[in-house]
Amino acid sequence: MKVACPTCQKESEWNSDNSFRPFCCERCKLIDLGEWANESKTIPGQPSFEAAESIEDLGGDPGIAPEDRLH
Ligand SMILES: [Zn+2]
Repeated sequence: MKVACPTCQKESEWNSDNSFRPFCCERCKLIDLGEWANESKTIPGQPSFEAAESIEDLGGDPGIAPEDRLH
């Protein structure tokens, strides 16, 4: 079975000997990983960090302080 390398489009054999599959070589794999980092296609930490901040803001809202319920 042959697959096209996602980086250079060169066809390479898909087998267990190729530890870089679906890439044809280590270089193409590293290039692809580098593009992921540079273009920041997806940074899983960022959106969740923003969400955590929003939740914190709601919890710290003085308008819903527990003491108000006692009065
Ligand atoms: Zn390649």
